[in-house]
Amino acid sequence: MSYAPKRKAISKATRRQVYEREGGICYLCRLPIADGERFDVDHEIAREMGGADDISNYRPAHPECHREKSKRDVAAIAKSNRIRRNLNPETRRTTRHPIRSRKTAWPKRSFQKRQS
Ligand SMILES: [Zn+2]
Repeated sequence: MSYAPKRKAISKATRRQVYEREGGICYLCRLPIADGERFDVDHEIAREMGGADDISNYRPAHPECHREKSKRDVAAIAKSNRIRRNLNPETRRTTRHPIRSRKTAWPKRSFQKRQS
């Protein structure tokens, strides 16, 4: 299992093609990317989630928007790895005694409210 899959570099021509096809619109926030502005080419469906590594799955995005989405992808990928691991008896964690965190002084009000 690889956590850092190699991605083939996207050529300038391909980047241009993606930009033109999407009309210069960031696919994440739907705002235009100014001509000449720096932008990222992202996989709409992360490769780890089964997305294709070709132009059909490429989308232009503002670097900031891309960063935000990558964070969400990392969480989703971790979750799918977790599910996969738990489906396999070889890799499933079977402990009945999960590590407990220290006692906290968090308010318990919202929980008690749900009880009534
Ligand atoms: Zn954007």
